[in-house]
Amino acid sequence: MLIQYERPGRDKSKVKHLCAILYLPVAAEARAARIIEAENTGDKSKLQKGDTMDISITKMVVAPCNEDEQDRQYDNQRNEAPCLCSTCLENPPISKILPCNCSRCLPEPVPIKKPKPRAVAESAALMIPQSERLSKAMHVIAKEHMLSYRLALFDAKDERTSGFTPLTSYLPAKDIQLILDTYTLLLTNGELQICRIFAHNNYILYNIDGFVKVLQTAEKDLAPICTANQEKERVGRATSGYPISGALSPNYFVHNWG
Ligand SMILES: [Zn+2]
Ligand SMILES: [Zn+2]
Repeated sequence: MLIQYERPGRDKSKVKHLCAILYLPVAAEARAARIIEAENTGDKSKLQKGDTMDISITKMVVAPCNEDEQDRQYDNQRNEAPCLCSTCLENPPISKILPCNCSRCLPEPVPIKKPKPRAVAESAALMIPQSERLSKAMHVIAKEHMLSYRLALFDAKDERTSGFTPLTSYLPAKDIQLILDTYTLLLTNGELQICRIFAHNNYILYNIDGFVKVLQTAEKDLAPICTANQEKERVGRATSGYPISGALSPNYFVHNWG
């Protein structure tokens, strides 16, 4: 992209903080540095394939101050006596702001991405022993509840503002899996665990009461299966004569719902 700068003469009442933005490809600075060096030394051996750039842009890219470079390239005089013509009196040219606020002298703050790692949830899920997880049958039922919860979140949003947000954004499949994996933890330790585990999902985080209600509704469907499973285990123990350990009964849900 090639942009030539000039002393801007735009309507300052409309454009308050006029600035030029130069979009550069990755590695443009390194490329510009090689071009400048070749220009200064006459040695083109270090130039790489594709090392072509308008020389004024090249100089701008490596300049310690963009405004000084702009003035240099266009021979703008900082100290020239103010023009007294009616146009300039009415609409005085922009004078340099001191200290300079160009992006070289005052680098723009780069927003730091706050880590909201799903990793927290993933490691929490890993800590839950197999014996404390939902059985396959319970998994299917709980998942149905989560899918309708997702639909409810979607429906509750205003179509005018959120119409383009896809259904899956509200509760991605990965989060549904995490809810199912950490189900017992979420249910027994409530809000605290939900905040800790699902800090990456604002839909859950900002509507914890709603989410807890969904868990409780799902529990009503799951509790009978849980009881049946516990009974099966009890009978199994009684007939086999030795206790079945958790490791021998994968996907077996023995959480105490009382
Ligand atoms: Zn500057
Ligand atoms: Zn003038």
